[in-house]
Amino acid sequence: MKRSKARSRELFAEARRWIPGGVNSPVRAWSAMGLEPRFVAAADGSRIWDVEGREYIDYVGSWGPLLLGHRDPAVVEAVVEAARRGMSFGAATAGEVELARRLCERFVSLERLRLVNSGTEATMSALRLARAATGRSSIIKFAGCYHGHSDGLLVAAGSGASTFGVPDSPGVPDGYAGLTRVAEFNDAASVDRLCDQEVAAIIVEPVAANMGVVAPEPDFLARIRAIADERGALLIFDEVVTGLRLGPGGYQDIAGTRPDLTCLGKIIGGGLPVGAYGGRAALMEQVAPAGPVYQAGTLSGNPLAVAAGLATLDRLDATRPWDQLEDKAARLGAGIREALGRRKACLQRVGSMLTVFFGPGRVRTWADAEGADRTRFAAFFAALIERGVWIPPSQFESWFVSAAHSDEDIERTVEAVSAALEASDR
Ligand code: PLP
Repeated sequence: MKRSKARSRELFAEARRWIPGGVNSPVRAWSAMGLEPRFVAAADGSRIWDVEGREYIDYVGSWGPLLLGHRDPAVVEAVVEAARRGMSFGAATAGEVELARRLCERFVSLERLRLVNSGTEATMSALRLARAATGRSSIIKFAGCYHGHSDGLLVAAGSGASTFGVPDSPGVPDGYAGLTRVAEFNDAASVDRLCDQEVAAIIVEPVAANMGVVAPEPDFLARIRAIADERGALLIFDEVVTGLRLGPGGYQDIAGTRPDLTCLGKIIGGGLPVGAYGGRAALMEQVAPAGPVYQAGTLSGNPLAVAAGLATLDRLDATRPWDQLEDKAARLGAGIREALGRRKACLQRVGSMLTVFFGPGRVRTWADAEGADRTRFAAFFAALIERGVWIPPSQFESWFVSAAHSDEDIERTVEAVSAALEASDR
């Protein structure tokens, strides 16, 4: 293959002619880093290669789903096998039943679930069901939590916080955004103030991953569960990132708080487009065709995505990687903390998810996260990419450690972080 040193630049120029901003999802553009994106050619295990042939240790992992690393052989094999039988039927298949059963068996809140094509669809559909089930219109979300780009959820979605919804994007009608009330993460009192008889649901990332990694404080989830119960609202856990990553039964199992509805995505399709929402049978039986709440999808339960999901579950059951992930991520976190030294920065980590925040001290809310020094982060990002470590191009995202990261990867990353910090100190 002929490799031009400026291939990414050429591709980006071409991409901008045909695709808005040159990318199919905004954060891929690296514009917040003041850089042009490097285009990816291939990946394997913990490594990713750009079109210029440079190799990186990858901590983006397709934004979370690649818990087993890139191109796990068993997952690839399952997808190829499935493709040989047919790419899509628009009809029921045995694989969908097995995936639904196996997910319901591991998540305490799930008795029935519906497969969809993305996390966005999962949360949007769960909210429709919650509104139908309660006969109420308003919802509560948390500033800094992201649940995909559907209209009512594009409010304080990792940017400005406000009490009553102000849309984060033109095109979201004020009237619709106004049905979204915005509470502060880790502040149950803010939920208590907002949750009245008009609120259908409280939706939360049980561990926030979209303002950087922020853990829930010990009683936060239990308190919002109690408020929801008291006011007749449903509690929705968006485990699109945390489900299967933090433990076999999601974070709900670890926290011991059971939501009414759970949204899943990413990992349950092993990296192919998928999502799911589910909950108690009585709630889910309100979804069409069992009940009147309409929700559908031509490609939902796509056989390739289902095959990748089942193979991923098989591998997780066979290897039970969570202790090892915790151990690796703890070593990475400790190494980074040491490298940060006395700089104004901190590392936050929950299991295999971590974020380096520049500036603000401990982050427990979006208001804290917003105080981070994005310019300093951008300089660090640029220096780290130059040293062969591929992290999310944003201060407000999680790095993801996978089962494919080796001890050597962790050591090399810590060295690169240390060098990148020195190179980017002002
Ligand atoms: N929920 C959470 C917590 C997410 O992090 C994301 C995406 O990153 C979504 C929902 C939306 O998922 P998707 O991008 O598959 O629509």
